[in-house]
Parts: sequence; C-alpha cells; structure tokens
Amino acid sequence: MEKLPLNWIDDYFSDYELHKLAFKNIVYEAESKHQKIIVVDTYSFGKCLILDNEFQSAESDEYVYHESLVQPSLIMHPEAQSVLIIGGGEGATLRETLRHKSVKKAVMVDINDEVISCAKKSLPSFHEGAFDDERTSLVIEDGRKYLENTDQQFDVIIIDVNDPVGGSPSAMLFTREFYQIAAGRLKKDGIVVVQSGAVSVTDNDLFSGIFHTLNDVFPHVFPYTTYIPSYACLWGFTIATHNLGDLDITGEEIDFRIGNRVNSALRYYDSITHHSLFNLPKYLREELKKS
Ligand code: SAM
Repeated sequence: MEKLPLNWIDDYFSDYELHKLAFKNIVYEAESKHQKIIVVDTYSFGKCLILDNEFQSAESDEYVYHESLVQPSLIMHPEAQSVLIIGGGEGATLRETLRHKSVKKAVMVDINDEVISCAKKSLPSFHEGAFDDERTSLVIEDGRKYLENTDQQFDVIIIDVNDPVGGSPSAMLFTREFYQIAAGRLKKDGIVVVQSGAVSVTDNDLFSGIFHTLNDVFPHVFPYTTYIPSYACLWGFTIATHNLGDLDITGEEIDFRIGNRVNSALRYYDSITHHSLFNLPKYLREELKKS
C-alpha cells in the first residue's frame, strides 16, 4: 500500500510516552503573550487546539470533555443561576453552561484573549454563539487575580485551565490558597469543579494532588473520570462543595432535571453516563485513599 506523506503532531504523555496524530494542515498559528497557540486539522479527530505543545481539545469529541466537565455539577446543583468559568478559552465550557435555562449570568475569565480570538476564527462549533449570549460576561484576566478582587458570589465555579506544567499561567490555580479563595466566593450549596488532568495506572500525581488539595478546603470531594478518545486516555475531573445538598441524586432525577433544565440535546451526559463517570476503578479508589 502506498504510504501517505503525513505531518504529525506530538502529544507527550511523559518523557517516555508519546501520542502522535497525523494532520492535513495548520489552520491557525500564533505566538501569544501567554502561550504558543496552534490549531491543526487532523485526520482522526478534526481540528485540534494545542497550547504550548499541550493538546487541549478536538473538534470530534470535545463534547465528551466539556459535557463531563460542566453537566454533572450544574445538574447536581439545586438551581444554578450564576456561574463563573475560569479558563475554557475555546468557549465550549461556556456553551455547556448556557444550555441551562436557570443560568442568568455566566462570567468567563481567561488570561489569554488570543485563545478566544483563535476559537472565534477557527473553532466555531466549540462555542455556537455562546460569546454573544446576553448572559455572558467575558473578562480577560488571570483567574486567581479576578477571584481575589471580586465580591461576587457564584453557584458554580468551573476551573478549566491547562495543566500546571512547563511554566503554564495556570500554576497558581492548583493550590490550597486558590481553592480557599474560590470557596469564599461560593453561595450556599455552591459547587466548584476542576478539570483534573490525565489519569493512568502509573501516574496520577495531578489527579490525586487535586483531590487531596480540594479535600483540605472542602468536606465533600467527588473525583470522576471519563475516557476521551482524542486524548487516548482516561481524564479526571473533581467536584467539591461545603454542603452535600442534592449531590446524591438518583438516575431518575438526573434525567428529569436534564429534561426540565437543559435547552438543547446533550450528546454524552445522561443518568447512565453520570453513574459511569463517578464509578472509579478499584486501583484509583485505592490511590486516592493514600495521603
Ligand atoms: N481542556 C483543557 C486541557 O486539556 O487542559 C483546558 C482548556 S482551555 C483551552 C485552557 C484555558 O485556560 C486557556 O484558554 C488559557 O488561556 C486559560 N488559562 C490558563 N491559565 C489561566 C489563568 N491563570 N487564568 C485564566 N485563564 C487561564
């Protein structure tokens, strides 16, 4: 069989593990103040966003990541009206938040306006008009600075910043002090959810570190995972709250709430997916028990 001349994008899992995706062409490339931004059009997963050589999201399965990040906490909250998103430059976290009819205000704070410009230009299916929604307030600022200075209180705070690797501007958003600040900006029944990085059988330092750091601040912490095909690995998320409230809802209630609250069809999240998200395999449950 004739071999195609392919360009490859490298996604390093570690110094010793590499995931490669072949791409047709570079759609967007910019050296921004905070990160190097590239969008490539891949054969397997459509357009993919890469920041500082770290793979962020893919057109074909970003809904798996973004529904997993946003929907559980918004469905578990009794009635989320005000939501703060930190990061989420592609606009898909905002899109998922605005699906909820109860949401009256969604503040999105991202440090890099060039990621947003890139998404507006090259990744339209990620945001579907979310940036123009009248409930959206877009703030270009460091998320930690924003939270330190605001006196607003939120029902749900979603932290969707890149992993704290290689001098990322997100580093100070994975600390106990930051989670304490976030806890102080939550209303009663407030929930914070954090994208928590790759999960594997050999290296769960980020996932278990976020779990334990959140647990220093919040009495109730719920780690969960899902498989993201374009990442070629299991991905972690963590919910934390002061008040257990409705977090232990049944499958029937989840589907009822989705039907009542969400204004357009979800592709990934429902009661069955919800239970699979929160049922961690034994090795991970044991890993998280270690301090
Ligand atoms: N899905 C992603 C992943 O794989 O890690 C995260 C998505 S999103 C593209 C990450 C966003 O976080 C970027 O738009 C980046 O500009 C933003 N970000 C990084 N550090 C930040 C900070 N300190 N404050 C606010 N936004 C930040």
